[in-house]
Amino acid sequence: MTVTPALPPAVSSEREAVLLASVPTGLLIGGQWREASDGGTFDVHDPATGEVLATLASATSDDAIAALDAADAAQASWARTAPRVRAEILRRAFDLVTERAEDFALLMTLEMGKPLAEARGEVTYGAEFLRWFSEEAVRDYGCYLTSPEGKNKILVQHKPVGPCLLITPWNFPLAMATRKVAPAVAAGCTMVIKPAKLTPLTAQLFARTMLDAGLPAGVLNVVSSSSASGISGPLLKDSRLRKVSFTGSTPVGKRLMADAAQNVLRTSMELGGNAPFIVFEDADLDAAVEGAMAAKMRNMGEACTAANRFLVQESVATEFTKRFAAAMGALATGRGTDPATQVGPLIDAGARDDVHALVAAAVDAGAVAVTGGGPVDGPGYFYQPTVLGNVPNGAAILGQEIFGPVAPVTTFSTEEDAIRLANASEYGLASYLYSRDFNRLLRVAEQIEFGMVGFNAGVISNAAAPFGGVKQSGLGREGGTEGIAEYTTTQYIGIADP
Ligand code: NAD
Repeated sequence: MTVTPALPPAVSSEREAVLLASVPTGLLIGGQWREASDGGTFDVHDPATGEVLATLASATSDDAIAALDAADAAQASWARTAPRVRAEILRRAFDLVTERAEDFALLMTLEMGKPLAEARGEVTYGAEFLRWFSEEAVRDYGCYLTSPEGKNKILVQHKPVGPCLLITPWNFPLAMATRKVAPAVAAGCTMVIKPAKLTPLTAQLFARTMLDAGLPAGVLNVVSSSSASGISGPLLKDSRLRKVSFTGSTPVGKRLMADAAQNVLRTSMELGGNAPFIVFEDADLDAAVEGAMAAKMRNMGEACTAANRFLVQESVATEFTKRFAAAMGALATGRGTDPATQVGPLIDAGARDDVHALVAAAVDAGAVAVTGGGPVDGPGYFYQPTVLGNVPNGAAILGQEIFGPVAPVTTFSTEEDAIRLANASEYGLASYLYSRDFNRLLRVAEQIEFGMVGFNAGVISNAAAPFGGVKQSGLGREGGTEGIAEYTTTQYIGIADP
């Protein structure tokens, strides 16, 4: 008789309550936690149950300006702080986030819905930006050279860009914050962060962890708020702000870029995606299905890197779809705190309705739901893991971000077709290629317009790699050696020979 190993127990409600009670509920301005200037608050909900988890202070425009006052006041001394000191603060923050990994993971599961195992993965990934940029902080090289004419010298150095506004989305509450905060700290910038109103608790706990790591008052200010534009509006008009780094949807990113133009701000824009997942007939199909599951189902499909269009070569499409649908249909849906859960809820009712509208329209247009195809009854915002076959080219579901556990499969006949279909999108963030022929992989990568390409890999994000997109997926890179450059300006000094 085989014995299935017992799963760890579900998280107790007492543990959840103790953790939630430990999260700061105020605004962090100049090193102090405080109420909103008008006493306003907003609620944060559990998407698995719809219940209120916590009530936070809701920053006003006045609070946003007070946060910029604090960032501006701290900027000069923070810029002068030795890189080694900044590096050591980041390294301590990495250690603390790692020590508190279970708290961060549970908090993300509660406010965002992802299964605990995935939330733990996000803690590992998110913490890595703190360690990576602790190492980069002391290696921000400039240069010194003789001019081509052979006389006079050229000196080039990097300086912090100045106070930054960091706006993060709800889907990766820790990693999207550390990916911005860590390079800003490393470069010597001060900042005001505005977390997504749906999942601000993780950023609140992270901010306290940064203070515990020794970050001086005023360097990091947090203005959680129910009114995003009430925060960004006044800050983008204030000439003391020097940069905005945004991760979120393309329409909001465009609006922020337009506002940022008034003061010619530096901008980093990590926007939406519509990732193609291309399976060639010479691919290892088991590996392709495994990669497809990871690329589609990480975060319930609520990821900018999520595979959004499965383009499969005709001769293997039936077999791939059959195996993929079997794997998707076997996934267990439930509250993320339950150890058996593999798929959590979507973030809210609107998100679930949007996903279903795309599925219904695709089925109307001739697609077939091979598995799934509808919402799950009961409380919370659950949607069945879904594979759609025979999706006609031109269907709306292939043209926009699905942001849910739905995989539309369509076919192609030649390599040229695959490249043309992949590029038929205004987005250009992540893409995934499956083939055993390395020359083909390189040839296709050369021709597709995407900032990131996975070769036989369904998850490619890494703190040491430059994350970012082309076309309407955005500007700038986060992570890698490129990440710190987003937070520095270049100064050239021309030196006359004596
Ligand atoms: P969103 O654009 O609705 O919100 C993102 C952030 O912007 C939130 O903090 C929100 O409160 C704020 N915001 C919303 N309207 C604003 C306004 N008018 N002015 C200022 N701030 C405003 O996006 P979302 O729903 O939170 O996140 C999902 C989107 O984010 C998807 O499109 C996804 O692809 C994208 N995303 C991109 C990346 C990436 O690195 N490229 C990573 C994660 C998510």
